[in-house]
Amino acid sequence: MPLLRLERVSFRYPSGFALREIDLEIPSQSFLALIGPNGSGKTTLLRLMTKLLEPESGHIYLDHQPLAKFARCGLARHMAVISSEQYFEFPFPVAQVVAMGRFPYLGRFQRMSNQDWKIVDEALEMTQTDHLRERPISQLSSGERQRVLMARAVAQKPSILMLDEPNAHLDIKHQISIFRLLQFLNRKQGMSVVVVLHDLTAAGAFCRTVALLRQGELVKQGKPEEVITTEVLRSTYGADVLVYPSPLGGFPQVTYRPETGDRRQESESRSQNSESRRKPET
Ligand code: ADP
Ligand code: MG
Repeated sequence: MPLLRLERVSFRYPSGFALREIDLEIPSQSFLALIGPNGSGKTTLLRLMTKLLEPESGHIYLDHQPLAKFARCGLARHMAVISSEQYFEFPFPVAQVVAMGRFPYLGRFQRMSNQDWKIVDEALEMTQTDHLRERPISQLSSGERQRVLMARAVAQKPSILMLDEPNAHLDIKHQISIFRLLQFLNRKQGMSVVVVLHDLTAAGAFCRTVALLRQGELVKQGKPEEVITTEVLRSTYGADVLVYPSPLGGFPQVTYRPETGDRRQESESRSQNSESRRKPET
């Protein structure tokens, strides 16, 4: 049975954009990438799956229970969410931010136990943020903040982790380390991961399944090599790309050229012309 199930879920903003009849099953221990062009509804779908928005019609079930029935605290014991726009104005020390991951497990007025702090320490270590523990969260770089948010999510010990473009502000080394951490949580700790991604190569390299949204509809889902193909990307994104199997393991890798074929030919012929003009006339 799937951990999270969406049945014909529809939703509409007053502005007019709509998600239409989304059917999606997220089994336990899965690692799913949600991809799609800008404005195709990825963040909106994530908000529906994390109960930040309510569907207009259709049903969402988490662990066989209607998502609508979960109270915030109960939901937080199952699901951790890292949204793309999470800012901290108050200078909480990092360790305190990570400790917030334990709050769903504490009764009212109950204090953190030694066991809770041990979980916080482990989360800081796992995300390589231990050295930041005393630093105010408001003064970190966006890459450091992203790893602290990961630490908080790890401390929350959810069965499903939802992230919206977690690699958006990270350099390549930290992107890889975030995805490897997600893989570790998925494979070794049995956590399901759902991640909204712009980066199609990362989706191909790290995720086990990919779901593609276009204009509010889920148009394709399957293994990375089934969804991330030259034809699908050209037709969905309208982008002049080429997908080929990576030499590092055969997963789909997306590439493109700096100029269109036509322009390249034009510039080549232009440079040939100038070459010939430069040649001394005989
Ligand atoms: P994506 O994450 O795929 O880029 P979004 O889910 O953020 O797409 O947005 C889908 C569409 O819904 C866009 O056209 C966007 O302008 C619109 N939209 C997003 N948030 C809101 C909102 N709070 N109110 C009205 N329209 C919104
Ligand atoms: Mg988005």
